[in-house]
Amino acid sequence: MVTPRMAGFITRLAGLFDRVADPHERARAAADALAGLLRAGGILAPEHTEPDPRRYRQHLVHVDDRARFSVVSLVWLPGQHTPVHSHACWCVVGVVTGREAETRYRLDPAGRVVPAGTAVNLPGDVCWLVPPERDIHRVCNDGDRKAVSLHVYGADIAVRGSSINQVYPDPAARPRAPEHAP
Ligand code: FE
Repeated sequence: MVTPRMAGFITRLAGLFDRVADPHERARAAADALAGLLRAGGILAPEHTEPDPRRYRQHLVHVDDRARFSVVSLVWLPGQHTPVHSHACWCVVGVVTGREAETRYRLDPAGRVVPAGTAVNLPGDVCWLVPPERDIHRVCNDGDRKAVSLHVYGADIAVRGSSINQVYPDPAARPRAPEHAP
Protein backbone atom coordinates (compact mmCIF):
# COMPACT_ATOMS: atom_id res chain seq x y z
CA MET A 1 0.00 0.00 0.00
CA VAL A 2 1.10 3.54 -0.74
CA THR A 3 -0.13 6.40 1.43
CA PRO A 4 -1.90 9.34 -0.26
CA ARG A 5 1.08 11.59 0.54
CA MET A 6 3.46 9.08 -1.02
CA ALA A 7 1.22 8.84 -4.09
CA GLY A 8 1.41 12.62 -4.42
CA PHE A 9 5.19 12.55 -4.07
CA ILE A 10 5.50 9.90 -6.78
CA THR A 11 3.29 11.89 -9.15
CA ARG A 12 5.32 15.01 -8.45
CA LEU A 13 8.62 13.26 -9.15
CA ALA A 14 7.33 11.81 -12.42
CA GLY A 15 6.28 15.31 -13.50
CA LEU A 16 9.64 16.81 -12.50
CA PHE A 17 11.51 14.14 -14.42
CA ASP A 18 9.50 14.91 -17.55
CA ARG A 19 11.31 18.26 -17.49
CA VAL A 20 14.84 17.35 -16.35
CA ALA A 21 17.04 14.46 -17.49
CA ASP A 22 20.47 15.29 -16.05
CA PRO A 23 21.24 13.00 -13.07
CA HIS A 24 22.45 15.90 -10.90
CA GLU A 25 19.31 17.91 -11.63
CA ARG A 26 17.08 14.90 -10.99
CA ALA A 27 18.81 14.16 -7.69
CA ARG A 28 18.53 17.79 -6.59
CA ALA A 29 14.85 17.96 -7.58
CA ALA A 30 14.14 14.69 -5.78
CA ALA A 31 15.98 15.95 -2.68
CA ASP A 32 13.86 19.13 -2.59
CA ALA A 33 10.66 17.14 -3.01
CA LEU A 34 11.73 14.60 -0.39
CA ALA A 35 12.51 17.34 2.15
CA GLY A 36 8.94 18.62 1.71
CA LEU A 37 7.51 15.13 2.06
CA LEU A 38 9.41 14.53 5.31
CA ARG A 39 8.03 17.76 6.77
CA ALA A 40 4.48 16.65 5.89
CA GLY A 41 4.69 13.23 7.62
CA GLY A 42 2.31 10.32 7.02
CA ILE A 43 4.66 8.97 4.40
CA LEU A 44 4.95 5.23 4.81
CA ALA A 45 2.41 2.47 5.29
CA PRO A 46 3.16 0.36 8.38
CA GLU A 47 4.32 -2.62 6.29
CA HIS A 48 7.10 -0.49 4.83
CA THR A 49 8.55 0.19 8.29
CA GLU A 50 8.87 -3.47 9.36
CA PRO A 51 12.42 -4.44 10.41
CA ASP A 52 14.29 -7.72 10.02
CA PRO A 53 16.14 -8.87 13.15
CA ARG A 54 18.99 -10.29 11.02
CA ARG A 55 19.95 -7.31 8.85
CA TYR A 56 18.75 -3.95 7.60
CA ARG A 57 15.66 -4.41 5.48
CA GLN A 58 14.70 -2.91 2.14
CA HIS A 59 11.06 -2.40 1.10
CA LEU A 60 10.33 -1.49 -2.48
CA VAL A 61 7.60 1.15 -2.30
CA HIS A 62 7.31 2.16 -5.96
CA VAL A 63 8.99 1.87 -9.36
CA ASP A 64 8.31 4.51 -11.98
CA ASP A 65 6.45 3.04 -14.96
CA ARG A 66 9.26 4.30 -17.20
CA ALA A 67 11.99 2.99 -14.85
CA ARG A 68 13.36 6.50 -14.25
CA PHE A 69 13.31 6.13 -10.47
CA SER A 70 12.42 3.87 -7.58
CA VAL A 71 11.25 4.70 -4.07
CA VAL A 72 12.51 2.41 -1.32
CA SER A 73 12.30 2.42 2.47
CA LEU A 74 15.21 1.04 4.47
CA VAL A 75 14.59 -0.09 8.04
CA TRP A 76 17.43 -0.54 10.52
CA LEU A 77 17.52 -1.88 14.02
CA PRO A 78 20.25 -0.47 16.30
CA GLY A 79 23.69 -1.49 15.05
CA GLN A 80 22.52 -2.73 11.64
CA HIS A 81 24.56 -1.36 8.76
CA THR A 82 25.32 -1.62 5.06
CA PRO A 83 28.65 -2.84 3.74
CA VAL A 84 31.02 -0.19 2.38
CA HIS A 85 29.63 0.24 -1.13
CA SER A 86 29.47 2.36 -4.26
CA HIS A 87 26.34 3.04 -6.30
CA ALA A 88 25.00 2.13 -9.70
CA CYS A 89 22.78 5.22 -9.93
CA TRP A 90 22.07 8.54 -8.24
CA CYS A 91 20.60 8.23 -4.79
CA VAL A 92 18.66 10.58 -2.49
CA VAL A 93 18.15 9.70 1.18
CA GLY A 94 15.89 11.28 3.79
CA VAL A 95 15.61 10.10 7.38
CA VAL A 96 12.04 9.46 8.56
CA THR A 97 12.74 8.26 12.11
CA GLY A 98 15.80 7.42 14.19
CA ARG A 99 19.38 8.29 13.30
CA GLU A 100 21.79 7.11 10.67
CA ALA A 101 25.55 7.60 10.63
CA GLU A 102 26.97 7.84 7.12
CA THR A 103 30.71 7.40 6.62
CA ARG A 104 32.05 8.38 3.22
CA TYR A 105 35.26 6.96 1.76
CA ARG A 106 37.79 7.82 -0.91
CA LEU A 107 39.97 5.37 -2.80
CA ASP A 108 43.71 5.43 -2.17
CA PRO A 109 46.14 4.82 -5.08
CA ALA A 110 46.09 1.09 -4.29
CA GLY A 111 42.30 1.02 -4.67
CA ARG A 112 41.59 0.62 -0.96
CA VAL A 113 38.88 2.64 0.72
CA VAL A 114 39.95 5.28 3.24
CA PRO A 115 37.43 7.00 5.57
CA ALA A 116 36.74 10.59 4.55
CA GLY A 117 34.32 11.78 7.23
CA THR A 118 31.15 10.75 9.02
CA ALA A 119 27.86 12.63 9.17
CA VAL A 120 24.90 11.87 11.42
CA ASN A 121 21.53 12.26 9.74
CA LEU A 122 18.41 12.83 11.84
CA PRO A 123 14.69 12.95 10.97
CA GLY A 124 14.08 15.46 8.20
CA ASP A 125 17.70 15.45 7.00
CA VAL A 126 18.16 14.81 3.28
CA CYS A 127 21.38 14.03 1.41
CA TRP A 128 22.21 12.73 -2.03
CA LEU A 129 25.00 11.43 -4.17
CA VAL A 130 25.63 11.07 -7.88
CA PRO A 131 28.21 8.47 -8.95
CA PRO A 132 31.11 8.50 -9.43
CA GLU A 133 31.60 11.57 -7.22
CA ARG A 134 32.00 10.74 -3.52
CA ASP A 135 29.64 7.80 -3.90
CA ILE A 136 31.37 5.26 -1.63
CA HIS A 137 29.84 5.05 1.81
CA ARG A 138 28.66 2.91 4.70
CA VAL A 139 25.45 3.64 6.58
CA CYS A 140 24.71 2.47 10.11
CA ASN A 141 21.93 2.92 12.62
CA ASP A 142 24.09 4.12 15.50
CA GLY A 143 21.09 5.10 17.63
CA ASP A 144 19.22 3.11 20.27
CA ARG A 145 15.93 2.63 18.41
CA LYS A 146 14.66 1.63 14.99
CA ALA A 147 15.62 3.92 12.14
CA VAL A 148 13.69 4.32 8.90
CA SER A 149 14.87 6.21 5.84
CA LEU A 150 13.30 6.87 2.48
CA HIS A 151 15.44 6.51 -0.63
CA VAL A 152 14.88 7.62 -4.19
CA TYR A 153 17.13 5.89 -6.72
CA GLY A 154 17.61 6.75 -10.37
CA ALA A 155 17.08 3.18 -11.55
CA ASP A 156 14.60 0.32 -11.50
CA ILE A 157 15.40 -1.34 -8.18
CA ALA A 158 12.93 -4.15 -8.86
CA VAL A 159 15.27 -5.25 -11.67
CA ARG A 160 18.60 -4.42 -9.98
CA GLY A 161 17.71 -5.64 -6.49
CA SER A 162 19.51 -2.72 -4.84
CA SER A 163 21.42 0.44 -5.70
CA ILE A 164 24.74 -1.14 -4.76
CA ASN A 165 27.34 -1.23 -7.52
CA GLN A 166 30.40 -2.58 -5.71
CA VAL A 167 31.12 -3.72 -2.15
CA TYR A 168 34.51 -2.96 -0.59
CA PRO A 169 36.30 -4.52 2.38
CA ASP A 170 35.53 -2.45 5.48
CA PRO A 171 38.81 -0.85 6.62
CA ALA A 172 37.53 -0.86 10.22
CA ALA A 173 37.40 -4.67 10.02
CA ARG A 174 40.87 -4.97 8.46
CA PRO A 175 43.46 -6.67 10.67
CA ARG A 176 46.03 -4.14 11.79
CA ALA A 177 49.70 -4.63 11.23
CA PRO A 178 51.72 -4.76 14.45
CA GLU A 179 53.07 -1.35 15.41
CA HIS A 180 56.54 -2.60 16.22
CA ALA A 181 58.50 -5.30 14.52
CA PRO A 182 59.37 -8.10 16.95
FE1 FE B 1 24.22 3.65 -0.33
